[in-house]
Amino acid sequence: MRILLQFPEGLKQEALKHAKVLERAGNEVVISATPTFGACDLAIDEARNIGAEKIVHFGHVEFHHVDFNVEYIPYPIDADLGILERSIEPLKPFRTIGVMTTIQHIHQLGNVADFFRGNGKEVVIGKPYGFAKKNGQILGCDAGSAASIDRKVEALVYFGGGMFHPLGALLMTTKPFLLIEPFQGTVEFIDRYRETYAKRSRGKILASVDAKNIGILVTTKNGQNNMPMAKILKAKAEGAGLNAAILVSNTFDFNSINNMMEFDAFVNTACPRISIDDADRLRKPLLSANELNEVLRIKGELAAKQRA
Ligand code: SF4
Repeated sequence: MRILLQFPEGLKQEALKHAKVLERAGNEVVISATPTFGACDLAIDEARNIGAEKIVHFGHVEFHHVDFNVEYIPYPIDADLGILERSIEPLKPFRTIGVMTTIQHIHQLGNVADFFRGNGKEVVIGKPYGFAKKNGQILGCDAGSAASIDRKVEALVYFGGGMFHPLGALLMTTKPFLLIEPFQGTVEFIDRYRETYAKRSRGKILASVDAKNIGILVTTKNGQNNMPMAKILKAKAEGAGLNAAILVSNTFDFNSINNMMEFDAFVNTACPRISIDDADRLRKPLLSANELNEVLRIKGELAAKQRA
C-alpha cells in the first residue's frame, strides 16, 4: 500500500524511523514535508496527488471526519509528575480545583488528579464539548474541558508542555489559572495574560475602525476551512459600506499577506489561534470574526452620531 506519513513539527525528527518500519512491512512510504499544525490539517490533497491510499497521521487523535483513509497514531508522553509537589503551596488557598491537559498527557491526568486528592483537594475534570475527545483534554482551539467547569471550581490547573494549549483555556475562563510545565520546570499563575490579550484585542479593534478595505482569510486546510463564515463576514462588511475580499491559502505566508497593501485590516476564519498568536506578524490588524463584528458595531455608532 502507498502511504503518506504526516508528523507535527515536534515529531518530524522521528519520521525516517517510522517510515522504515512501514517499508519493512511491505508498504511504499512517502513523508509529508509540509508544516502540520494538528489533526485539523490532514494532507489529503497531497495524498491524492501522489496516489496514496492512506494517511498515517502521528501525534494527534481524530479532529473531524474526512472522506479518506486516515490512521491516527497518538504520541503519549510520560512527563515527570515530581513537579506537582511544587504546586501545593500556590494552590493552598483553593479547595476545589479543575485539572486539564493535552492529548499527550491525558493518560497521566488520573495520576495528577489522585495527587491533588491525596493533598486534600476536591478535583473536577471537565467534559469536552468541541473537537477534543477525552475528559480533561484541551486543544488550542477547544477549551471546553476547562470552560465547562469554570463555575464549579476555585482554581484551574493545566499540566503539560508549552503555553499554546493553556492560553486558549485561560482566555475562556475566569478563575486563577496555574500552569504546571514539567519540561521547563515552571509552576506559575498565568492569569495576567487575560488582561494582556484583552488589551491587544481592544487595540486591534480600535486600529481597524477607520478601515475601508477588509481581507478575509480562508484556509483550504480541511479541518479549518470555513468559507461559509467568510461569505457571511464579507456580506456584513459590505453591508457596512466597506470593500471586502476573500483571500485563500493553505498555510498563510504572512510576508505575502503583508504585500497586499490595499487592505487596511484582515479577518481570520481559519484556526482561531491565528488571530491571537500571529497578529504581530502582520503590519495591519488581524481580527477574529467577533472582533470584526465589534469594529462594525463601533463604526455604526460613530456614523449614527455623525448623522444626529
Ligand atoms: S488550535 Fe488550530 S491548529 Fe490546533 S487543532 Fe485547533 S484549529 Fe487545529
